[in-house]
Parts: sequence; structure tokens; C-alpha cells
Amino acid sequence: MDCIFCMIKDGKIPSAKVYEDEEILAFKDVNPQAPVHILVIPKEHIRSVDCINSDNSKIVAKIFEVIPKIAKLCDLTNGYRVISNCGEDACQSVKHLHFHILGGTKMADKMA
Ligand code: AMP
Ligand code: ZN
Repeated sequence: MDCIFCMIKDGKIPSAKVYEDEEILAFKDVNPQAPVHILVIPKEHIRSVDCINSDNSKIVAKIFEVIPKIAKLCDLTNGYRVISNCGEDACQSVKHLHFHILGGTKMADKMA
């Protein structure tokens, strides 16, 4: 499958990993938009938030259990933002579900 995040998960493309378990991988965004910019992905290929359903939503719950652990690992003690771009209007560029963790600075109060 021609999916860059599946290739990262399979070790075919290098990444700066910050967290990994059997089902989840987190790595630094190659083009950071904040001092700390981490991407959290399920190892299972899910296309976007729009494809979350009762068959695969457990992994999303697990990702949201892991996010606070990653925030601690990255020293984001003063808060952080979690974003998932979904589809064309949101400018989703990689069609593998991912959650951006952004932090390490005071961010703009507007999101769009
Ligand atoms: P989105 O626009 O929400 O789909 O986010 C995709 C993100 O993936 C962007 O922030 C890119 O900078 C990031 N990205 C693309 N390729 C890589 C890569 N090989 N390693 C790390 N991050 C990447
Ligand atoms: Zn994928």
C-alpha cells in the first residue's frame, strides 16, 4: 500500500520515534509547526477520523490514553493541542489516521 505512515510503521522509512507499543506509534513531525510536534498513529491503517467506527474505535481510545504519556515524555507540562485533520477541507495530506500533538509554546487562540 502506498501509505507513507504504513511505511514508517514497517521501518521502510526512518522516523524519530518517541513512543511505540504493539498497536501505536508516535514520532516527530518532519516539518514541525511548534517546538514540540509529534504525530501519533495506529499501526492499523485507518484512513481518517471519518473512518472510525465501532469495529476500530478501541484503538482511538487507546491513542487517547497514550497521548498524556507522550505529553509527559515530551515535558509538555503547560498544556498542548491535539489535532486531527480529516479530508480535503481540513487539508489532510497523509491519508492514515494521525493525531498531531503540538506544544512547547503559547499557541494562537484561533484554530482556523
Ligand atoms: P496532515 O496534513 O494533517 O495530514 O499531517 C501530515 C503530517 O505528516 C504533516 O505535518 C507532515 O509534516 C508530516 N509528515 C509527512 N511525512 C512525514 C515523515 N516522513 N516523517 C514525519 N512526518 C511526516
Ligand atoms: Zn497507512
